[in-house]
Amino acid sequence: MVREGWPPLNDFLSIGTALSGATEALSKVSDSPRLDAELLLARAIDIPRSYLFAHAEEELDRAGVERFQNTLKLRIDGLPMAYIAGEKEFWSMTLMVSPATLVPRPETEILVNLVLQEIPRATKCRVLDLGTGCGAIALAIAKERPECDVVATDVSEDALAIARQNARQLSIPNIEFLLGDWIEPVKSDSFDLIATNPPYVPDNDPDLEKLRHEPRNALVSGNDGLDAIRLIAADAASIIKAGGKLFMEHGDTQQDAVEAILGKARWSGIAVHKDMAGFPRVTVASR
Ligand code: SAM
Ligand code: GLN
Repeated sequence: MVREGWPPLNDFLSIGTALSGATEALSKVSDSPRLDAELLLARAIDIPRSYLFAHAEEELDRAGVERFQNTLKLRIDGLPMAYIAGEKEFWSMTLMVSPATLVPRPETEILVNLVLQEIPRATKCRVLDLGTGCGAIALAIAKERPECDVVATDVSEDALAIARQNARQLSIPNIEFLLGDWIEPVKSDSFDLIATNPPYVPDNDPDLEKLRHEPRNALVSGNDGLDAIRLIAADAASIIKAGGKLFMEHGDTQQDAVEAILGKARWSGIAVHKDMAGFPRVTVASR
């Protein structure tokens, strides 16, 4: 067990000891405790991670130990590494994230891939990303298909500010970011493709405890988690061009419910796609 206030500020502490103690402490909250410990220590003492491996015996100075202790405490409290680092890799891009944005998940790259398969290179089309967060889906599509115009919306002004900064930082010009409730900011527009990773966690899901540092509004959507999906399935129909497609991420037990919702809203050609773990994750429907 690691004591409160570990690592100690007074004792001699080597890089190797700091890493093994932190790894043990992090194993309760992280799937990659050693990697997290290395990344946190490298940040705290401002050296590349690779430096740690050849310098296990080196003593840490007090300021370094203090910085390490502070971030370690946050991580042990469940704060995602992405919020500590302020960034997350998605679709080979380094995206800025903040506690106002969901941390983009690798599963969402499945949705991006499905959308890109629908857009031959060098064709023009209009694509909408509903609930863009840090901009992950919109940025990936706009980057891969520079001829397309992408519109991305979110109800969170703080999330949109991060998304806009990401577009600027990555020099991706073909995205417009709009503030508002789902399709509200684009209701007189029309799109060839609509992509969305809406909140879909039921409001009593026990996993929410682990996700407590992420915005609730990005995760939770009513009793069964399907409120946003119901709204989007109904409203997206009015802004999709004839022959257009809707790509929707959802929970791994929601595929039947999502299919029924889309069918009721008169979408056709409904097909579900699995993620890398083999779980149903994205449903595609046509108009
Ligand atoms: N697309 C991003 C991603 O995959 O990383 C973020 C997805 S997150 C699951 C859902 C997003 O929907 C959040 O950014 C949240 O702010 C946004 N959102 C929640 N309610 C909304 C609403 N009523 N209208 C528009 N966006 C909303
Ligand atoms: N996939 C996320 C999770 O449970 C949920 C994201 C969402 O609600 N869209 O970790």
